[in-house]
Amino acid sequence: MSKIKSIISVISDRYEVHDDWEKYNPFETLINIMLSQSTHWRNVDAAMENFIREFKEIDDVARAEIAEIEKVIRPAGFHRVRAIRISKLAKSLQKNYRGYLEEIMNLPYSEAKNKLISLEGIGPKTADVFLMAVRGEKVLPIDVHILRVMKRIGVANDRDGYESLRAKLENEVPPDDRARVHLALINFGRQVCKSQKPRCEICPVKEECRRENVSGQEGNFI
Ligand code: SF4
Repeated sequence: MSKIKSIISVISDRYEVHDDWEKYNPFETLINIMLSQSTHWRNVDAAMENFIREFKEIDDVARAEIAEIEKVIRPAGFHRVRAIRISKLAKSLQKNYRGYLEEIMNLPYSEAKNKLISLEGIGPKTADVFLMAVRGEKVLPIDVHILRVMKRIGVANDRDGYESLRAKLENEVPPDDRARVHLALINFGRQVCKSQKPRCEICPVKEECRRENVSGQEGNFI
């Protein structure tokens, strides 16, 4: 077994997997993913409760004032910039897809991803998480936590972009395990290999870890 495979296997066997995607429709799932970036899940949940209560359709969001969206998503933070992105996203979906995300969801993977990336505020990571959540696409999206862990362990290097790191991990993880591994690595990053003060003393992969960039600047993918 390769070193990456064995590290991923140790982490994904130990860290709990949790997702809420089934309770949301596709547009709500997309908003949930956008609000989850760098935000605690409890604050995202509070914002999502408001969002679902206030907006029933993409058209409602497209028609809403920015201030109204800001008020609704305020518990998740960064509400000013996020409200503008959400408003532009809803308007673009309404204009180009008549308010139906399903038109994108049913396309082949590369085409669906390219169309998603062309929308406001959506990058390759958000597109991949969305396709994984709504139709079980067998990808392994790389978020801020996974990027940090992989840099510290020595799997990711400075030349890695989103797609090259995703390919590295997907080469080591069978398609059916990728969603579970994605969620387990995020939990490991939140609970143990934290941004500030990683808990190396209790880390199950400390013997294999190079502990690179432990106090350095974090990257992120959208
Ligand atoms: S040893 Fe420390 S830096 Fe390395 S993966 Fe574990 S918690 Fe992160």
